[in-house]
Amino acid sequence: MLDTKKLRNIGISAHIDSGKTTLTERILFYTGKIHAMNEIRSKDGSAPKTDSMDQEKERGITIQSAATYCDWGNNAINIIDTPGHIDFTIEVERALRVLDGAILVLCGVAGVQAQSITVDRQMRRYNVPCIAFVNKCDRTGADPLRVCEMLRDKLGHNSVMIQYPIGTEDKFQGIIDLITMTPFLFKGPGGEEVVEAPDLLKGPLLQKALIQREKLIEALADLNDDIAEAFLEERKISPEEIYPILRDLTIERKITPVCCGSAYKNKGVQPLLDNVVRYLPSPEDRDYTALDQDNDENEVKLSHNPDDDPVLLAFKLEEGKYGQLTYCRIYQGTISKGNVIYNRRSSKKHKIGRLVRMHADEMHEIDAAGAGDIIALFGIDCASGDTFTGENINYTMTSMHVPDAVITLAIEPQKNEHLDKLSKALNRFGKEDPTFRVSVDKDSGQTIIGGMGELQLEVYIERIRREYKVDVHVGQPQVAYRETITKKIEFNHLHKQQTGGKGQWGHVAGYMEPIDEHYEFVDKVFGGSIPREYIPACNKGFKEVMNEGGIRGYPVTGIRVVLNDGSSHSVDSSDMAFKIAANKAFREAFSKAGPIVLEPVM
Ligand code: GDP
Repeated sequence: MLDTKKLRNIGISAHIDSGKTTLTERILFYTGKIHAMNEIRSKDGSAPKTDSMDQEKERGITIQSAATYCDWGNNAINIIDTPGHIDFTIEVERALRVLDGAILVLCGVAGVQAQSITVDRQMRRYNVPCIAFVNKCDRTGADPLRVCEMLRDKLGHNSVMIQYPIGTEDKFQGIIDLITMTPFLFKGPGGEEVVEAPDLLKGPLLQKALIQREKLIEALADLNDDIAEAFLEERKISPEEIYPILRDLTIERKITPVCCGSAYKNKGVQPLLDNVVRYLPSPEDRDYTALDQDNDENEVKLSHNPDDDPVLLAFKLEEGKYGQLTYCRIYQGTISKGNVIYNRRSSKKHKIGRLVRMHADEMHEIDAAGAGDIIALFGIDCASGDTFTGENINYTMTSMHVPDAVITLAIEPQKNEHLDKLSKALNRFGKEDPTFRVSVDKDSGQTIIGGMGELQLEVYIERIRREYKVDVHVGQPQVAYRETITKKIEFNHLHKQQTGGKGQWGHVAGYMEPIDEHYEFVDKVFGGSIPREYIPACNKGFKEVMNEGGIRGYPVTGIRVVLNDGSSHSVDSSDMAFKIAANKAFREAFSKAGPIVLEPVM
């Protein structure tokens, strides 16, 4: 088993095209997971090792997060490949959930871009400490110091350079470690020889590097008394003093160390890995909590004791060569081959057959793994986001924030006999990805799929074609608009039909008003103007009409209905009559309440 203190579970987050894939490949190369650079990309320039699906290769984007294990010196690093495209945010969220720390890759020219802001927000939500890597320092216009400033201005990080570039643009040669003041060059065909170059430490380069070191020390002094004292006394501060302090501040997210390099030109990657180990937390440095299902979902702190009952979160499913692989992060305890674990959502019991550690697309069998580790299980039927525990505890990891679908489209197989296969595919995607929604339109009977963006839905449609061999017709994508009201309005509606046979009488009165939540029903009927037994029918009538849609036919949200009066008839009143009354009252009032259309914002 791994020594958790020496383990780092990290993600690499980035705006698309900033070099995340290239950096990941280089990391795999320097850690010996791939043996030659030409293994990294095939001749057509695609096929990086962490992108396992054909489509990813064609599109040149990473859409599935795969966990890859590698060794760095005496340490082990699990790289959770987080997708960079906004349409796949749920994958990023799920990956961030299981990471202890992250590398935020930024382009040395473009700096902080739209997607950097999104991933940064997600990292903040899950309290993930990060170090920044300013990539592409070899490109024209690259300026790592400016990117460091952008991290401050645009993302509010307390960012400090811990490296200084030796030359930039086409003169970019290497980096100076500002803590030890050691210049490093990268020699050999793949930059695999990291060479110290003390001769370079002179003249303007030295002066500029010293200014940045001073800034680093000032930032530390602001947050740490020992450094502040040394700084005031103008005492020289040794690397040994800086390391633990900078490490703690990084883990507390009070400082973001900034490294620089060029993944493509093989410069700066090995020192980045050293810094991952040095400053990013081990699983033991992070505290995690679960929800105790036997105790009102109270939060319980998970322990670092290997003998405690295991708690695992399944964060990714993958259909592999050998069947379904379930990627799990172990949060507590230890699991071994042959152990029995319990799925706390489905209440199913599973025996652990094969346990593997993933190395890009190779897998290595292991016998046991402990808290902090990321492993994959075979042949376990579950959904992404499920929690497994030992027999004696009934914990689940907190539910993930799953955003509503923002786009939908109708889908049907071209051939009727493919209906079964299509529903199988949709079922599977829904399990893998909670943002992928499937529903049936009540009026048209069409199957509607929904998600976070057009690209995401396109990818699934493509997978239906390729993996399930089903050709489909798809409708125009529809934006998931909603309707709501902007002012308070009273309603008073009598639904009466008394012409022959049993009549209908339902009468509701009250008001509705805008709220931030989806829907609230308040019963303020006193004195029996509406008998108690009909109140639920009224509530149901309001709720149903909201789903049917407002003036433009989009589902309605953000309404509180307060029912305070009405009347009934001893013979003609019924649930049905009150439901219809509520329905009509709502429609009348809605049109007068300043209705507006809401569009999704992300
Ligand atoms: P991702 O979308 O973030 O995974 O980015 P990729 O790793 O696919 O890189 C996008 C493009 O930038 C590719 O053409 C890379 O060759 C190029 N690239 C990546 N790193 C560097 C770098 O350090 N310098 C330069 N000049 N180009 C780079």
